[in-house]
Amino acid sequence: MAAVFYTSCSNGGSSESSPQNESSKRDESSPQNESSKRDELFTQNQSSKLDELFSQNQSSTQNVSSNLDEVTIGNQVWMTKNLNVDKFRNGDPIPQAKTDAEWEAAGKNKQSAWCYYNNDPANESKYGKLYNWYAVIDARGLAPEGYHIPTDKEWTILVNYLGNDAGTKMKSKGGWNSYTSGGDETCPNCVDWSAEYRSKVPCHTCKDRRRVSVPTQTNTGNGTNACGFSGLPGGHRGYYFGPFLDIGKYGYWWSFTEDDELDAWYRDLYFRDGYVRRPYDGQKGNGLSVRCLRD
Ligand SMILES: [Zn+2]
Repeated sequence: MAAVFYTSCSNGGSSESSPQNESSKRDESSPQNESSKRDELFTQNQSSKLDELFSQNQSSTQNVSSNLDEVTIGNQVWMTKNLNVDKFRNGDPIPQAKTDAEWEAAGKNKQSAWCYYNNDPANESKYGKLYNWYAVIDARGLAPEGYHIPTDKEWTILVNYLGNDAGTKMKSKGGWNSYTSGGDETCPNCVDWSAEYRSKVPCHTCKDRRRVSVPTQTNTGNGTNACGFSGLPGGHRGYYFGPFLDIGKYGYWWSFTEDDELDAWYRDLYFRDGYVRRPYDGQKGNGLSVRCLRD
């Protein structure tokens, strides 16, 4: 039934998935410049319309960009918060799935649904709502007037524009879990040696143990938010049985673009690294965050 939506936006290719292949010369564009450019572009009216859509209660851990509702990144204008609407653009309510059974049924029946992470309204102000993909492509319109849900291709444009460490530039400065590293690790000195070379040459770093003891340390999972995207680790809700997973560790955002009968494309950010992933397992019945892009 929704096939009409796919034709214009599915690029079908995976060749553009690499976030690292764009030059880094664009790193020069500072978020300050972009922010002020944006300010010139927007009227008060548009700002207050957005205010109605979002809770006033903002995280105090984000950088200066969090005071803005939008940020210009390259040629795109992104919202800086996850979508938090419970009505479609035409005014129809989007059903809230509160129980695991309701959530799974919505996915099975290909019906739009939203939820709070852990069904807890306390997560709303920071993370917005989680939506299944059927809400994303619902003909009644999930994105507010003047906005749309980014296609897979539009996500790729963003990631390519940001270049190296795109995920670090997209992650907020606070709110991500930290993680420890170190302990018993592969010896960095001889890790790439061939078996033959190892048999002839002793490694003085690990004394041929192939492992070394590295002091453990705690690393931040936070990003720099250099582009103002302000990505937070809102986690997701699984389709089958409706479990809530990964808050603090992953942020997931839908694209408008279908992959196949069961899956749609999305992007995620991870607390342990600075990559933007484009996984293949985006089941349409999953609950992910949504970011809107200006038309
Ligand atoms: Zn070694």
